[in-house]
Amino acid sequence: MWRGVRAVLGIAVAATLASTVAAPPSASAAAGKAAAVNCKKVKCIALTFDDGPSPYTGALLDTLRSNKVKVTFFVVGRQVEKRPSVVRRMVREGHEVGNHTWDHTRLTDALDGEIVSELSSTQEAVHEAAGIRPKLMRPPFGATDQRVRAAVQTAGLPLVLWTGSTRDWELRNTKAITRKALSLVRPNGVILMHDIVPETVKAMPGILSELRKRDYHVVTVSSVLGDRKLEAGEQYPS
Ligand SMILES: [Zn+2]
Repeated sequence: MWRGVRAVLGIAVAATLASTVAAPPSASAAAGKAAAVNCKKVKCIALTFDDGPSPYTGALLDTLRSNKVKVTFFVVGRQVEKRPSVVRRMVREGHEVGNHTWDHTRLTDALDGEIVSELSSTQEAVHEAAGIRPKLMRPPFGATDQRVRAAVQTAGLPLVLWTGSTRDWELRNTKAITRKALSLVRPNGVILMHDIVPETVKAMPGILSELRKRDYHVVTVSSVLGDRKLEAGEQYPS
């Protein structure tokens, strides 16, 4: 019965969408809720910012808000504990928050129990700060192996790596970071940056303006995934 009702509703919604294709962005986007972007149909790029929240994250959030784009932050638990209001703001403004461990630990060097507690303490810190629990994690340094993936599975999270790394922590130069970031852009890519690098935060207005010229939608990792549901312990991109 419910399936049938849902199917009928689905048709009604599809018909409504078809008749309002040229409509301007909905009010929900302005309210900070992520506007639905279909990354199978338009060019999407997921920008991800690791290791914060930092003293520079607020300025980055200002830039993201004025450009009306949503990104993914992979936060470190002990930084969340220091700056809970920044994490609360990320969530309120429609960004995605992922888990980047408590201490930025190289998980391939950690015991199984340590991996689980690094993740669960960060889950709780984010929940305490912002009322949500992350649904994605990123291993520090991208360091994973079969054992780490099994431990992360126990913690109930999928692993998200990247398709391109700006190496912004090494470049430390706004122009070089801009050039590198733009060179990594491709449809449904996942770009690694750091909101602890002030030059990255300074580079963002220019990067976003160039992405707009190239018709890219800047989105969260979950938007790039779309309908695809990652299993706990699964690694993306594989
Ligand atoms: Zn990191």
